Amino acid sequence: MSNLQLSQVRKSYGGLEVIKGVDLDIKSGEFVVFVGPSGCGKSTLLRMIAGLEEITSGELSIDEVRMNDVDPSKRGIAMVFQSYALYPHMTVRENMGFALRFAGVPKAEIEKRVNEAADILELGTLLDRKPKQLSGGQRQRVAIGRAIVRHPKIFLFDEPLSNLDAELRVHMRIEIARLHKQLATTIVYVTHDQVEAMTLADKIVVMRGGVVEQIGSPLNLYDDPANLFVAGFIGSPK
Ligand code: ADP
Ligand code: MG
Repeated sequence: MSNLQLSQVRKSYGGLEVIKGVDLDIKSGEFVVFVGPSGCGKSTLLRMIAGLEEITSGELSIDEVRMNDVDPSKRGIAMVFQSYALYPHMTVRENMGFALRFAGVPKAEIEKRVNEAADILELGTLLDRKPKQLSGGQRQRVAIGRAIVRHPKIFLFDEPLSNLDAELRVHMRIEIARLHKQLATTIVYVTHDQVEAMTLADKIVVMRGGVVEQIGSPLNLYDDPANLFVAGFIGSPK
């Protein structure tokens, strides 16, 4: 069954069209990675899926239900940003539970979900710390934890590792792959790092200038790039 579907989705800012008719069909449990140069529309697309940005035209559906006008909190989606955006005055535990508290989830249930996420992310010993007492990688794990506790159907990641140093990036990449296996959930992931894309993705979507250039498995794109742009971006010898 299709989990996330985009049909001729477009976005304009003022008179300028930045997403130019994107069609996409993502199955439940797939790890889909968007790549493409800066400014090609990756973040805009994610924000439209999350409901943080209005869709100018076209249709977005989740589990076959039209979502264009559905409130972000009711889409079953959680987004992890590049800037972790943790609340500095709250502990790790409070940061992870905040959205649930805001949504009126009972205290015992919040505690259960926070502990569960802390287990998955190995944050159990850090729950009473404040963000400034954490390393970059630990902060990123808390940001992921905030998404996990919401039990979303779909995770959206917007360049989650780009603020980390190279070594930590490799480590977190492995963590995210493990997380995907463990949670068996759909992940839509944006990166400009082709190694990240090639190692994480079931399916890669290559974008340029608001248009999808090619969709395929990493091997597909490497062996049979549609054009020189895709070949150049993926690093295949064509
Ligand atoms: P990417 O994430 O691939 O780097 P973005 O989705 O951030 O690209 O941006 C796509 C295009 O839309 C860019 O040309 C950008 O300048 C433009 N854009 C993004 N957000 C806005 C906005 N709020 N107002 C006007 N233009 C925007
Ligand atoms: Mg972006």
